[in-house]
Amino acid sequence: MLSSAQTQVLRLLCDTIVPSLPHPGDTDGFWARSATDVGADQGVLAMLATMPDEQQAAIGGLLDILALQGFGTASPESREQILTTLSLASAPAAAGIGSLTSVILLITYGAVGPDGRNPNWTRLGYPGPVAAAPADGPAITPVRPDGGDLELDADVVVVGSGAGGGLIAGRLAAAGRRVVVLEAGRYRTEADFHQLELAAYQNSYWRGGPQPTGDLNVTLMAGAGLGGGTVINWTNCLKTKDWVRRQWADEHGLTDVATDAFDRHLDRVWRELSVTDQCSELNRVHEAMHRGAEALGWSFATIYRNWDEKRHDAAIAGHLGFGDPSGAKRSTLKVYLEPAVAEHGARVVDGCRAERVLVEQGRAAGVVGRWSSEDGAGTATVTVRAPVVVVAAGALETPGVLLRSGIGGPAAGDYLRLHPCTVTMGDYGTDMQAWWGAPQAGLVNEFANVEDGYGFLMESVQYTTGLGASALPFTTAAEHKQAMADYRNNGSFIGLIRDRGHGRVTLDPAGNTVAWYSLTDDLDVRNMRRAVEAEIRLHHAAGARGIRVLGRGMPGWRFGDDLEAYIDRARRLPLRAGGATLFSAHQMGSCRMGADPATSVADPRGELHDTEGVWIGDASAFPTPSGTNPMITIMALASRTAANIEEVAR
Ligand SMILES: Cc1cc2nc3c(=O)[nH]c(=O)nc-3n(C[C@H](O)[C@H](O)[C@H](O)COP(=O)(O)OP(=O)(O)OC[C@H]3O[C@@H](n4cnc5c(N)ncnc54)[C@H](O)[C@@H]3O)c2cc1C
Repeated sequence: MLSSAQTQVLRLLCDTIVPSLPHPGDTDGFWARSATDVGADQGVLAMLATMPDEQQAAIGGLLDILALQGFGTASPESREQILTTLSLASAPAAAGIGSLTSVILLITYGAVGPDGRNPNWTRLGYPGPVAAAPADGPAITPVRPDGGDLELDADVVVVGSGAGGGLIAGRLAAAGRRVVVLEAGRYRTEADFHQLELAAYQNSYWRGGPQPTGDLNVTLMAGAGLGGGTVINWTNCLKTKDWVRRQWADEHGLTDVATDAFDRHLDRVWRELSVTDQCSELNRVHEAMHRGAEALGWSFATIYRNWDEKRHDAAIAGHLGFGDPSGAKRSTLKVYLEPAVAEHGARVVDGCRAERVLVEQGRAAGVVGRWSSEDGAGTATVTVRAPVVVVAAGALETPGVLLRSGIGGPAAGDYLRLHPCTVTMGDYGTDMQAWWGAPQAGLVNEFANVEDGYGFLMESVQYTTGLGASALPFTTAAEHKQAMADYRNNGSFIGLIRDRGHGRVTLDPAGNTVAWYSLTDDLDVRNMRRAVEAEIRLHHAAGARGIRVLGRGMPGWRFGDDLEAYIDRARRLPLRAGGATLFSAHQMGSCRMGADPATSVADPRGELHDTEGVWIGDASAFPTPSGTNPMITIMALASRTAANIEEVAR
């Protein structure tokens, strides 16, 4: 809890970041509206209340320092100066001010009032939710402890129900195995999807939305809930590239992955997910991408999506990263988990975080987890006894389960790959309506393999107001507000590299995972710089009149400026905290498969080297990154792992 003096400083901080500014012709009050006018201070306080005590204390301490610097009585200009001076004085202060600034911007432009709208959206030209969520009830009923601890018996317990875990649970249940799924997130259905950004982060994202790595270098995004990332991801379906399959076969011992056998897994997943290219209308951002690629002679491809053509509505598809209320999305929840429960007797426990794998006589014996009710009032221990354990908690959490259990060997948590990406915005001088249509409908794959099997893909992103505002580098309040006033004219391209270098997942003293990642591998640095350059050239060729690479201290380019000088400057942006803004929505490899127990956790079939009966079922199992958006590869690999588990059981 903040003191009233600290709360007062917080309010001033909010209105220093987003102040009320006089502006001619401010008909909708955008310029006059400050952060506290939309309740950003209340939002930050609510967010703080959910944080651990020591983080709250650190933020309180930062507010005390601001007070000591005279923040409370300073003029608005002096307050901005105090923030700049303090940020330059110490790295922790810079990190603290940076985080608070991001949260204030996220809430100011993302939060909604009782009418379900944010008043700033009028200036942004954002219509907000386009359809009421349907009233349909849930298709299945999760098992939930009822006043006491829960003990279950099964043939297989699956930890995590995303792209990998959801598929494996479905396949094994359909094959007649008694399956229990433990999922840390909650079961959400179409009725829960109100097309609101902040609610979606809270309800369906890992740790409540975008989170930095421990070293602050990369912002991580992942799904959490029954169906995992497949419930909120952007439905971009790409098959595994041949050169990646050969690398996994030749260097990591997954020999069948380079053969027709793996094609059969890919094709089956493709079919089951109803993947189609018939629902990928190009919005104006994708039209710009297409135009730019044509002008430069670069390849452009329409994206295939796991989507039910009969339920398709392009206006709703633009919000699918907040959960899809139309029911068109073919997530693992729809395709595998709901049928597993409804037709094959599988049991799912949502809100249950697996803490550790039970190991007896050196082999799997089950899983112990901690369940909590959604309001936090009820808690229980859940014990599932089973001879087969599939760990599929996502590459950020699977290593946590193994490390807490003391299994997996020296590679557990190592070799974390992120497909880190930079973002470049193009200002086209006209309303881009980037909120319309599938967030990823086309891509430039010209540079997928520029050096040794490594390269980058160029794609677009889902339109967001909150994350978009917080990702726009903050220089001065007036500049940021101007950038938001022009936000509607912008479209973003990302350059997502297949990373050769890697990070690591470790445990903090409380047993929670922390991801670490430095982009320092020389090939990765080269490819990221190539990607930044390509993003700029693509916008320029498409006719953007302004270009802005997202990064601290990086100015924008305006029509008439020297483009080559801008590219040169952008290529020199440091690729770490305080430099280029780096995002990752693709975490992989942190409990990888391979032949060598010193450098891999699981054998080439997916079973742990050191613990019989424990299998890795998610993106953690990738020996190296896929280089393509990973969902289809994760699922094809999970399909293969499910078959391997069945084979052992026979
Ligand atoms: C915004 C966004 C957009 C994306 N768009 C695309 C796209 O268009 N195409 C594509 O190919 N990929 C996309 N991805 C990536 C893709 O969704 C993920 O790579 C994929 O879902 C990862 O699958 P997984 O099985 O490894 O883990 P996840 O799908 O992340 O599932 C892991 C599950 O485990 C649960 N869990 C975690 N810890 C525990 C625990 N201790 N106990 C029990 N459960 C636990 C989590 O809550 C989660 O539900 C996107 C990702 C994001 C975030």
